[in-house]
Amino acid sequence: MSITIDEMASFCKRKGIVFPSSEIYGGLTGFFDYGPLGSEIKNNLKQAWWKYFVHDREDVVGIDGTIISHPKTWEASGHVANFDDFFTECVKCHERYRADHLIEDVLHMDVAGLKTAQLNKLIKEHHVKCQKCKSELAEVKPFNMMFTTFIGPVPSKEATAYLRPETAQNMFLDFKSVTETGRVKLPFGIAQMGKAFRNEIAPRNFLFRCREFEQMEIEYFIHPDKANECPFLDEVRRHKLLVYSAELQHHKKEALEMTMQECIDKKIISTAWHAYWLAKAHQWFVSLGADAKKFRIRQHVADEKSHYALDTWDLEYEFPFGWKELQGMANRTDYDLKQHMKHSGKDLSLFDEESKQKIIPHVVAEPSQGVDRAFLVFLYNAYQDDKQRGNVVLKLHPTLAPFKVAVFPLLSNKEELTSKAREVFTSLKTAFTTFYDRTGSVGRRYARMDEIGTPYCVTVDFDSLDKQDVTVRDRDSTKQMRVPINELKETLRRLLAGELAFSKAGTPFEPKKEVP
Ligand code: ATP
Repeated sequence: MSITIDEMASFCKRKGIVFPSSEIYGGLTGFFDYGPLGSEIKNNLKQAWWKYFVHDREDVVGIDGTIISHPKTWEASGHVANFDDFFTECVKCHERYRADHLIEDVLHMDVAGLKTAQLNKLIKEHHVKCQKCKSELAEVKPFNMMFTTFIGPVPSKEATAYLRPETAQNMFLDFKSVTETGRVKLPFGIAQMGKAFRNEIAPRNFLFRCREFEQMEIEYFIHPDKANECPFLDEVRRHKLLVYSAELQHHKKEALEMTMQECIDKKIISTAWHAYWLAKAHQWFVSLGADAKKFRIRQHVADEKSHYALDTWDLEYEFPFGWKELQGMANRTDYDLKQHMKHSGKDLSLFDEESKQKIIPHVVAEPSQGVDRAFLVFLYNAYQDDKQRGNVVLKLHPTLAPFKVAVFPLLSNKEELTSKAREVFTSLKTAFTTFYDRTGSVGRRYARMDEIGTPYCVTVDFDSLDKQDVTVRDRDSTKQMRVPINELKETLRRLLAGELAFSKAGTPFEPKKEVP
């Protein structure tokens, strides 16, 4: 049984992972600060994403755009007119609700894609009332979620600007500059990570729905006629995912496990490129230790899909509060580039060498991942309340762990042990994020490291002084090995890279088995 989201929030607060923002003033709903450990985990997560989707590839380049861009951006993108959620409030106590979420919670009904009038009808027909005081609810109204601000000293309509509600638009604004300077050729992607802001009506579920959050997004551009010519398809053909197509949802059936090849052959996913990016999104989570079986891809049903999207799928994760969206991935075609061409008057087409014609590339997939939701997934995946040990063990993948190694002197009051331990600590610190801890019993120190996910602990004892070796203890198995100090750095490097593993009794280490 995994812990509830409130228990996760209090664990994170206790351990310095995530705190409510501005807590000394009573906090601010929907805003969170990452503490000393959380900021390390989050940075590790973002770096791992950037490595996987930008550095390890030849076809994706990165940008770092502004949070505030020309206000016309958001007119062109449709956010000014349409970036709405459904708002209602109690006529008596003024408790505020996001109407679609309230109906889902109270009536256990899937209302994805329903409009204002339909939601109002459901509330009336089913007598949905305020959950706090049971009074009537006001008419549901659309509410634009963009945060506004003013540029310059005089607030006015002309000076109104928006904090970006998604990072994606920067990729379209910079498209011309990137293609002119970036030496990119179709197919290619532009990636960005950064803050996004949404004035959510009712933030809830801790980091899952905040008003300030981060996104990691890619706009992947292809030749409009080549949506099925994905040169990387072999990487994912046999990749299996739980697939919840619009049709299965319509017939109220369960999601089915399928390979990406099956999804393409049966035209469940409309293009090979889209199938490829969905599988890559899943593979990234699994590469960092997430349980593959807790994910599914769910297709947007007809009413739910944005008007410009040809096909949209969400990567979902099974949280304790249900299957929820982790990542949205729409096939946006040439909608955005065309909109920006129309509103800016600039030509954003590319010259196609093959056809000797100008073309407007299509965004075949827009993998749009929330950093904070990914962070929650990895925490849930790692969190284990180990009854035998009597403490929580955070089994984070070494890449994500805030500290990779901890070094302890066996006893804190023996100078020869502490100075040797400091020596070992100093030699490791430049290679890995390393923590030095001399307080409390060694058992207590192991427990503290388990709780913050440190994969390996190194203990310096009296034998270390004579034999120049130390004990290395593995977080997940609690097994221990003696390692010569002059081999310690390389051994830890190999353990952290997954090249070595703690063995069964007998041989000191054995190579880790490759998972097929
Ligand atoms: P939801 O339906 O849950 O509100 P959405 O469909 O509006 O999400 P997108 O616009 O597709 O979300 O945004 C892409 C991703 O950004 C989401 O999949 C999620 O990971 C992240 N995200 C969106 N809104 C929030 C939020 N309020 N707090 C944290 N992450 C968010």
